[in-house]
Amino acid sequence: MKFRNFKMVDYVVYGRGSFNQLDEIIAPRRKEGKPMIFLVDHFFEGRPLLSRIPLRGNDKVYAADVTHEPKTSYVDELANHLKNEFGTVSGIVGIGGGSTMDLAKAVSLMMTNPGSSADYQGWDLVKHPGVYKAGIPTLSGTGAEVSRTTVLTGPTRKLGMNSDFTPFDQIVLDPELAANAPVNQRFYTGMDCYIHCIESLEGTYLNEFSKSYGEKALELCRKVFIEKNEWNDESDDQLMMASYAGGMSIAYSQVGVAHAVSYGLSYLLGTKHGIGNCIVMNHLEEYYPDGVKEFKRMVEKNKVDIPQGICKGLTDEQFDKMINVSLGMKPLWENALGKDWEKIMTREKLRALYEKL
Ligand code: NAD
Ligand code: ZN
Repeated sequence: MKFRNFKMVDYVVYGRGSFNQLDEIIAPRRKEGKPMIFLVDHFFEGRPLLSRIPLRGNDKVYAADVTHEPKTSYVDELANHLKNEFGTVSGIVGIGGGSTMDLAKAVSLMMTNPGSSADYQGWDLVKHPGVYKAGIPTLSGTGAEVSRTTVLTGPTRKLGMNSDFTPFDQIVLDPELAANAPVNQRFYTGMDCYIHCIESLEGTYLNEFSKSYGEKALELCRKVFIEKNEWNDESDDQLMMASYAGGMSIAYSQVGVAHAVSYGLSYLLGTKHGIGNCIVMNHLEEYYPDGVKEFKRMVEKNKVDIPQGICKGLTDEQFDKMINVSLGMKPLWENALGKDWEKIMTREKLRALYEKL
């Protein structure tokens, strides 16, 4: 038995208004003449948050275009631009949802590692630590703020740069920043966390470490999405901690069926992570009976629509592509169904599941 020795985020600050401490927090990380780069979710363009960014010297703000989930080509373009413009930079601060945080992590790594980010999609391929990187979530649920990966769509696959160099040096958890997220988006991203909990707690990789964080995150998700009748500040406080704990839970276990199937949708159809997981979870009674029942209650209570029929009219070839991507996620299936998962989740069975979505 080999135990995982995993690298965590170095510094965490939590609290409403903690974003105001950013200037002080990054001050010791500034290098003479080298700018701090703020990569900010394009949603915030022209909004008050931009004027609160602590710019000094030749610091620069870039809008992260998250219309699509991050691609390796976009990461390379940003990193090459920064290298051409500044040589090197003091650091990258990513402010936004999971997409922006993943971009920030990947760009930081590509400032010091040669080639294309696509060369590092996989496990422990990154050779050098990146430049200083800080993550500041404005949506809660993905756990990208604590994870050792950054999910990228490359020329041949959708896979993260998983490495000990990937976690942030610093995260700033300020629930105020999530206050204005649209109801549907907040729900889809929040359900990413809920699904992380179910997949971790129902998985064969479960241990007491994962369980401790997973149970806490699940309890917080229930408070937010079932017990409360109105969204309030406390909901944002709770969901931000749920995201953190949910991320810590899967760090020492793994996700499961919903994620494995949703990766196929995302690869073929570009379906986004949060909503894709919801579309799949809606049909997983066989694997997570209690979790799916509760998920449906949350959908109903929060009056959110989960799209149906998104695989209608796809060709055999397209189904095959999704099945290949999905079955390629071996650790996810093994966690969900055990060592003999290949006997349980056959291509035919998976095809039938995709046809239902
Ligand atoms: P997102 O970052 O893709 O953002 C979704 C939408 O919400 C965007 O339009 C964005 O502009 C908007 N938005 C963000 N913050 C907002 C706010 N405060 N108010 C209003 N709008 C806001 O969404 P997400 O669900 O947080 O992240 C999904 C991404 O995270 C995917 O790319 C997925 O692959 C990745 N992910 C990464 C990990 C990891 O461990 N690295 C884990 C899970 C998911
Ligand atoms: Zn997820």
